[in-house]
Amino acid sequence: MTKATAGPIRRTKIVATLGPASDKEGVLDAMVHAGVDVVRINFSHGSAEDHRRRVVAVREAAKNQKRNVAILGDLQGPKIRIARFANGSVELENGQDFVLDINLGRDEGNQHQVGCDYRELADDVKGGDVLLLDDGRVVLEVTRVDSGRIECTVKVGGKLSNNKGINKQGGGLSAAALTDKDREDMKTAIDLEVDFLAVSFPRSGADMQLARDLLGDAGRNIALVAKVERAEAVANEATLDEIIMASDAVMVARGDLGVEIGDAQLIGVQKRMIARARTLNRAVITATQMMESMIESPLPTRAEVFDVANAVLDGTDAVMLSAETAAGSFPVETIEAMNRCCMGAERERAAQESKHRMADEFHRIDETVALSAMYAANHLEGVAAIACLTETGYTPLIASRIRSGLPIVALSSHPRTLRRMALYRGVFAIEFNTDDMPNAEVNQRAVSELQKRALANPGDYVILTRGDHVSAQGGTNAMKIVQVGEHIG
Ligand code: PGA
Ligand code: MN
Repeated sequence: MTKATAGPIRRTKIVATLGPASDKEGVLDAMVHAGVDVVRINFSHGSAEDHRRRVVAVREAAKNQKRNVAILGDLQGPKIRIARFANGSVELENGQDFVLDINLGRDEGNQHQVGCDYRELADDVKGGDVLLLDDGRVVLEVTRVDSGRIECTVKVGGKLSNNKGINKQGGGLSAAALTDKDREDMKTAIDLEVDFLAVSFPRSGADMQLARDLLGDAGRNIALVAKVERAEAVANEATLDEIIMASDAVMVARGDLGVEIGDAQLIGVQKRMIARARTLNRAVITATQMMESMIESPLPTRAEVFDVANAVLDGTDAVMLSAETAAGSFPVETIEAMNRCCMGAERERAAQESKHRMADEFHRIDETVALSAMYAANHLEGVAAIACLTETGYTPLIASRIRSGLPIVALSSHPRTLRRMALYRGVFAIEFNTDDMPNAEVNQRAVSELQKRALANPGDYVILTRGDHVSAQGGTNAMKIVQVGEHIG
């Protein structure tokens, strides 16, 4: 029913984590050129100075290439880790005894025991619990807990090295989502004026609300991302909904989440989370191991190609790269490969058709206009694009919750809004300042911006959304169908 007249532009957005690999001369520029939309600054590694240097470099690269690249700061959260070994690592045998001892010195680990930086671990576990170390590579079963000593049997052995993470199968660790370090890093994030801030391991909507409160007035323009990576967060629909509603975007954080709930559960959770986030008008990022083999190889495996494609078909806004771009040997090739996978998946009908909220009531005027515009765009022949004049990015967000093959062009004068929209699937942000424009010319000039970029050509229809006063927030109340080349009033 619909026909995309614009050339192929990737709709799904790419988030890439920065690190030593992207610090190398010329790499960040090449990554932006290859199509990175959002960069992740990972507060789990590096100093405030490293983060600042990277933020400056990203802004420079984006400016030179005239691209909107958003910055996502990612807080470490209460990632629970073992302490260190006297020799750096040990080899654990299946069936042997091994003790996690919260009273052991930081560097005194050996073949039989190791310390842990999280003292409450001894209160949170009991006999029969299963602990997954190093993302599940090493599995321990707790036999007994005795005054800070967690005695275990090694179920799956292997190499265990310094500071590896610990997850409890099924969840249930009591650690609060925001640590003292996170609170410090939030100040850095505000100072760096990040566009998004990710909270790691939230258990509830209240954890997200606490983050919002801590950001306070100074951080009120920062959009919050909930990393869903604890079993508790997906234990029931109400909790997940609460977390989604308390956030601006959510991340299917498959690394930690997969360890806690297991592979079999993870598959459905990814699909339901993406669908639910879209229904609740939130953006969603699918993360972790998407192109894992490309850390060391210039080509993805077929399985990775299809993993990215699956997330695209599930409806994710963005796909994320972690070590592939932060520490891998082929950061630019990885983005190019991901770009190809997204484009290929987006050509499929399922990626373009929508039954989104067909039976629902709407509650806001701007929401109603956004959804009506998409309905019209997807059903009227000859529409090339939807063009939204927007202050806050809300109308394009709502419009982009509907699947379509047509570009949603968001015209805004606010750099923050332009960057935030870099995360939204199918939204292409263009700077557009109406301050000195006679009101009667705004529509025509908006359409000209699309023409300039070949997003619409003479004879095409464009569906415009706007408010009576173009600079009023939340004021979208009108939709107009115009034809390129005709007089546009
Ligand atoms: P991380 O979060 O990369 O910060 O661990 C993502 C995940 O757990 O999948
Ligand atoms: Mn994680």
